[in-house]
Amino acid sequence: MVSRVIPVETFDLVIFGGTGDLARRKILPGLFRRFRSGQMPEGSRIIGAARSDLDQAGYRQMIADAVAEFGGEEKKDSKGLDAFIETLDYVAIDAKGDGGWAKLAEIVRKDVVQAFYFSVAPSLFGDLAERLHTNNIANEQSRIVVEKPFGRDLETARALNETLATHFDESQIYRIDHYLGKETVQNLMAVRFGNMLFEPLWNNHYVDHIQVTVAETVGVGGRGAYYDKSGAMRDMVQNHLMQLLCLIAMEPPSQFGADEVRDEKLKVIRALQPVEPHHIVRGQYDAGPNGPSYREDAENARSFTESFIAMKCEIANWRWAGVPFYLRTGKRMKARSSEITVVFKDLGHSIFEGDEARHRNILSIRLQPNEGMDLQVTIKEPGPGGMRLIDVPLDMTFADALGPDAEEVPDAYERLIMDVIRGNQTLFMRGDEVEAAWRWTDPLINGWEARNDVPKLYDAGSAGPEDALAMMHRDGRRWREIKA
Ligand code: NAD
Repeated sequence: MVSRVIPVETFDLVIFGGTGDLARRKILPGLFRRFRSGQMPEGSRIIGAARSDLDQAGYRQMIADAVAEFGGEEKKDSKGLDAFIETLDYVAIDAKGDGGWAKLAEIVRKDVVQAFYFSVAPSLFGDLAERLHTNNIANEQSRIVVEKPFGRDLETARALNETLATHFDESQIYRIDHYLGKETVQNLMAVRFGNMLFEPLWNNHYVDHIQVTVAETVGVGGRGAYYDKSGAMRDMVQNHLMQLLCLIAMEPPSQFGADEVRDEKLKVIRALQPVEPHHIVRGQYDAGPNGPSYREDAENARSFTESFIAMKCEIANWRWAGVPFYLRTGKRMKARSSEITVVFKDLGHSIFEGDEARHRNILSIRLQPNEGMDLQVTIKEPGPGGMRLIDVPLDMTFADALGPDAEEVPDAYERLIMDVIRGNQTLFMRGDEVEAAWRWTDPLINGWEARNDVPKLYDAGSAGPEDALAMMHRDGRRWREIKA
């Protein structure tokens, strides 16, 4: 198959925090995959910059080990790995002091694409941005990539935006939400805006409701101290689930360009209504046969932080008035499954005698596992005996549909980093979008804190607290089953 991948220019990518968990687990194994598929142009370099006192050889060994530990099939390619680690360099640097900056200035080239990945705690973003300038390393073409969390409320997000804006133009800032790098999430836009079939039905005349579920089986063990100050609302809803909601609900942009798409997403966030307390269910997992309770994992016996949240949201605009959007996310749930589901309205009238069932078309878009889509349609049950109707899925699992010759699907981080090098901001959050999301989220969090809301316990390995099921039942609806 002829590759239609858009080429990238030669680059120097500096990864601040290049020895950290994210860099070793995701960023560098991902870059190795892109290297193997020929997307890293000759002469490009990756420069780790972190606190550890390593030299170039030590860093190369660390990354070879990381690929061996966290990489997929590609790690078997030892010749490729040898060639890849040749592109790596390392500078021991102190974000808060002068150490290492002169050396970094010497290494980073001015005549290639420069990208600086801030894979460090957000408290260091300001220091890095400033030192990149005072040491005359960054220029007007440089790009910076920043990781989540982007603030913990509107005030802190605004302060971060202001800090970055002191040194970089918005067109240089790439705020990562790795959900936007997922293949299926982009497919959502292809399905909506590349087909005649769906868009005419994508509104309150035909859609009954929409569900977004992001269920994880893991608990918070290992990162309990961070998570306990955050909770599911800050960790998942304010960013990932809201991004998904925006892509489902936005108006068609005039073209698939960064500002056109982000303008439309922003309008959705601004149209989100405040959520009534009885439309929010917060949960916390209890101890179960396969693990400890949230409070044990978080090492906080009095924690009221939510590891699960379900909510019913409304978007006040012409397209969506009256269509509920149910969002749900949680840890230690029965299966790892992320899905967006569009449930269409019932037919008003059935012409088939004796057919009492409520037949509905349901489009579900699976983000993980088994990325793909299926559309539930109603057909005649085969065989004699009159017109009996059944609902069957038209299944399109991408891996099956596209076959073995399909271009290798890059993982979210790989794709997004390559977009940074290409200078394409479409799949990155703009500063005003992030602030608008916090503006909607803050009063909800402040509300439950003021009410001393206690999260409902749920069994580890379940679908969340009973109250979340009841919230749906009250509306005469039900959640989609969470299955792997
Ligand atoms: P980590 O603690 O594993 O690594 C931190 C890195 O920062 C190390 O390389 C360390 O040397 C470097 N560092 C710390 N202080 C420094 C200083 N003063 N000067 C220079 N370097 C310094 O953290 P992580 O898990 O890799 O996370 C990095 C960032 O990515 C954080 O903002 C985190 O919230 C975000 N993030 C991480 C994950 C993940 O899966 N780990 C997922 C999403 C977002």
